[in-house]
Amino acid sequence: MMTDLINVSGKCHCGKITLTGAVEANMIVACHCTDCQVFGGGPFRNNVMLKSENISIQGEVSNYNKIGGSGAVRTQGFCGNCGTHIYAVDSKKTLYSVRAGFLEQHKSLAPVKHIFANSAVKWLSNMSAVPWFEEGPNSVEIDYSSL
Ligand SMILES: [Zn+2]
Ligand SMILES: [Zn+2]
Repeated sequence: MMTDLINVSGKCHCGKITLTGAVEANMIVACHCTDCQVFGGGPFRNNVMLKSENISIQGEVSNYNKIGGSGAVRTQGFCGNCGTHIYAVDSKKTLYSVRAGFLEQHKSLAPVKHIFANSAVKWLSNMSAVPWFEEGPNSVEIDYSSL
């Protein structure tokens, strides 16, 4: 089945790795698995799926092989210099699950589905109930030095 493709581009924080490609529009997936929580340091990671023929990567990607829940190897690609998460891929490198956060287009890549809801944190649905500040520490609004 043909699906729409979205062109994306991005680079890791230090700039050593750049990526261009075309994302399957119906495969923008937020993953709430416990591994994503550990690797990512947040409640979930947002991923976009790119077939191997639709992805081009420049720069040396470091790899960490983990065994997935299915028993299959999932290679986690990241920048060995700055640590930016780049992708996860199967052992045959057929379908890349690219971490959306470092893509220039990431703010418009809203998930179309969420997976591993069983391990999702419960407070995601409650985020509007706590204060949101326009800027971070040492801004006028929020002063960590008073803690
Ligand atoms: Zn880097
Ligand atoms: Zn995950």
